[in-house]
Amino acid sequence: TFEPLASDFYSYESLLNDRELAAIAELRAWLESEVRPIVAGYWDRAEFPAQIVKPLAELGAYSFAWDETKPFENSAVFRGFIAMELARVDPSVATFVGVQNGLVNGTLSICGSAEQRREWIPRIASGEIVGAFGLTEPLSGSDSAQGLRTTARRDGDTWVLNGSKRWIGNATFSDITIIWAKDLADGQVKGFIVPTSTPGYHATKIEGKVSLRMVQNADITLEDVVVPESHRLQNANSFRDTAAVLRLTRAEVAWAAVGTAVGAYEAALTYAGERVQFGKTIGSHQLIQDLLVKSLGNITASLGMVIRVSEMLDSGEQRDEHSALAKAYATARMRETVAWAREVVGGNGIVLDYDVARFFADAEALYSYEGTQEMNTLIVGRSITGRAAFV
Ligand code: FAD
Repeated sequence: TFEPLASDFYSYESLLNDRELAAIAELRAWLESEVRPIVAGYWDRAEFPAQIVKPLAELGAYSFAWDETKPFENSAVFRGFIAMELARVDPSVATFVGVQNGLVNGTLSICGSAEQRREWIPRIASGEIVGAFGLTEPLSGSDSAQGLRTTARRDGDTWVLNGSKRWIGNATFSDITIIWAKDLADGQVKGFIVPTSTPGYHATKIEGKVSLRMVQNADITLEDVVVPESHRLQNANSFRDTAAVLRLTRAEVAWAAVGTAVGAYEAALTYAGERVQFGKTIGSHQLIQDLLVKSLGNITASLGMVIRVSEMLDSGEQRDEHSALAKAYATARMRETVAWAREVVGGNGIVLDYDVARFFADAEALYSYEGTQEMNTLIVGRSITGRAAFV
């Protein structure tokens, strides 16, 4: 049975149908019993719990899959609620799913041929294999639309890839990595499905992260990596196609940002009801109530926004600037909210045992990835003024 979240102040969850509510309830119960108890330890050790990959598939977390018989069988709104639910327990788990489901299956759905979709999507959606999405490079982050240095050279029926990638999530253990590279012939960005066992492909874990420590990010080098033409994404002909994937996934990051804020707020609210100072629970003090209420306002406003942006995706109205505004707004509100939660929990707000510290640290990565605050602001700025201010 479905129990509404106390943080869902305006009952947004009532927009879901019975089947969706049942799925959320099942996912929530599993996250509480199997994931919440282990995440602080995995975060501390900077390890990823591989045992969750398949159960997540069974619980429908990789529901982005598209094929001819069931085009996007789940609505974007429902997928958003799933992303929020995952992040509410752990932002690293939401990020893992965001890569596997959004960036990888999203790319295959949008940029793959019918044959490529049939071959790869079910294997990703079932958790049989893990995917990664390699766009960012050591020398090209925000400017990846024009700044990619990784090259692809056509050689008969094959392509030869050379270059390097940075920050690629899941890539220390992925079975395939989608590599975006510039075609030396026409200068356009193209995408390639690269099995990670291909000679010349090397991934090294990025150590020392203080945010999303559970997510395994990698530096990748590609030295004369050869893939067949059948592994070139047949419907990715320029960066415009890459951007179409990012438009969808950015909106899901906005949902994960709301989930991160919810997780921190819930932990702070619980703490405020237990911790006693000056003879009463800190939740009885006016200034603490102020922090909690402002947090609830952030969550409630952001949730309304992400629901609407997903409805616009479902109805075919969503444009780049719509998801960019949602990502920029929701991550900014998340950053405020996790800081307020950390304040409510006082000194305990900086130790892993009280959850808030993990949300506080993890929020920083969500704030920067899939387009920084500045990049998403410039996308919206271009839309409302008609002037691009990127360079
Ligand atoms: P830069 O582009 O170097 O930007 C640095 C700063 O300058 C930022 O504040 C930026 O907003 C600002 N800036 C840049 N240009 C302008 C401008 N024109 N005007 C104003 N300000 C500007 N990438 C992948 O491809 N796959 C992944 O799986 C992946 N996972 C990630 C996971 C994590 C935890 C992190 C941290 C990153 C991940 N990334 C991934 C990369 C991520 O998308 C980039 O970090 C992000 O796009 C920003 O690029 P950058 O870090 O190179 O920063």
